[in-house]
Amino acid sequence: MLTVENLTCGYGGAPVVKGLSFAVPAGGRLCVLGPNGCGKTTLLRALAGLLPHQGTVRIDGLDLGGMTRRQAARSVALLSQISSVYFSYTVYETVLMGRYAHEAGGAFSGPGQEDKRVALECMERTGVLDLRDRPVTELSGGQLQRVFLARTFAQCPRVILLDEPTNHLDLKYQVELVQELKAWAAAERRCVVGVLHDVNLALEFADLFLLMEAGRPRFFGSAEAFDPAQLNNVYQMDVGGYMRRSLKRWEELE
Ligand code: ADP
Repeated sequence: MLTVENLTCGYGGAPVVKGLSFAVPAGGRLCVLGPNGCGKTTLLRALAGLLPHQGTVRIDGLDLGGMTRRQAARSVALLSQISSVYFSYTVYETVLMGRYAHEAGGAFSGPGQEDKRVALECMERTGVLDLRDRPVTELSGGQLQRVFLARTFAQCPRVILLDEPTNHLDLKYQVELVQELKAWAAAERRCVVGVLHDVNLALEFADLFLLMEAGRPRFFGSAEAFDPAQLNNVYQMDVGGYMRRSLKRWEELE
C-alpha cells in the first residue's frame, strides 16, 4: 500500500533522511524508532507531502510527488501531538474539516450530506459524539486528541501518519488511541506509520519496525525479526535491561 524507495530529503539542500526504502502492506502498522534528531519527523513530513523529496513515495501505486494537494490529502493524513487550539470551533465543525478534500463541489463548496454522515460516524467511533456542540477550546487533552482522531478518520486517508500523538496524554488515553488506530488499520485494510517515543507503546502498536540512526536505516522488518541489541546500539543504553528493572519494581509493588 505504501512503498518508499530510496527516499532522501532534508532542509536547504542538506539531506537529513538518506536513502530510505521500505514498504508497508494494507493493514500494516509501522513504528519508526531512533534517537532525537535522527530524522523521524523529517521522514513523516516527506511522507505527508509537506517536504520535497528525492526518490519515490507511492500510495496504492500512485506517486505522491505527482499528486495535487487535494489528492495527497485524500491519501495521507497526519495526526500530531496536541497543541493549543485558538479558535473555538465546535467538535462537529472540527471533525467536518477532515472532509474538505472530499467535498463533492470542490474545496470551497462546503460539506454535503455524505460528508456530514462520515463525520458523525467517525465521532461515534471515537466516542466524541456526545461532545458534538462543545467548543474545542473547552476540552481536556484526551478529549481533544479523540476529536483530532475523528477528524483524521473522517479524512478517509489510505495512510495515517502519527507524530508522537500520545505526548501529553494519560496512559489510559495513550493505550486507547493506539488500539483505535490498530482497529482502523485492520478494519479498513489501510496502514499507519507512527513515531512513538514510548517503546512499550510501540511494541503494543506495531507489527513492523524501522530503526533509524543519523537519517539512515539500521533495521526494517517485522516485530519478530527485531533484535533488541540493535536498539541498545542506536540508543546507547540497555533498553531491555531498563524495561526489565521497571517491571521488577512493579512486581515488588504488587
Ligand atoms: P527526530 O524527529 O528524529 O527527532 P527531526 O526530523 O526533527 O528528528 O530532525 C532531524 C534533523 O533535521 C535535526 O538535525 C534537526 O535539527 C534538523 N531539522 C529539523 N527541522 C528542520 C528545519 N525546519 N530546518 C532545518 N533543519 C531542521
